[in-house]
Amino acid sequence: MTYHIPSDKQIQTALREIFKNFRTVQSQNRLRKLVTDKLNTKKKRFGVSGKRLRNIAIKSDFVKLEIHSREGDPKKILSKCPVCGSVLGRVKNLTIWGGEVTIEFRCSNCGYWTGKKKRIPTRYVFYLKKK
Ligand SMILES: [Zn+2]
Repeated sequence: MTYHIPSDKQIQTALREIFKNFRTVQSQNRLRKLVTDKLNTKKKRFGVSGKRLRNIAIKSDFVKLEIHSREGDPKKILSKCPVCGSVLGRVKNLTIWGGEVTIEFRCSNCGYWTGKKKRIPTRYVFYLKKK
């Protein structure tokens, strides 16, 4: 079976319809299933990766993402956001000795943040954004 790749627009339309019926979708896999079920026809089957779907949901103005995570290795260096791939911003603090120390990393695109103990995303919950 060949899978068709839906356009961003097709995915956005499917998301809009899904969030008319649901306020919350409990996982990325569930959302993926709902989206492909909406897009699939008798003749065409669609496939979308979780990462792509997540990024389209983040970009939309009506879906909000909640990131569930576990603690990761504090020594691991994060240069990009593990959720959406954007560059992470550093939140610095001055130490009493006059130096600077990075205490937090934040993503301005999707809202991911992490402190010294790296937060590793494990599950995503998708919400309808309240207007
Ligand atoms: Zn991000």
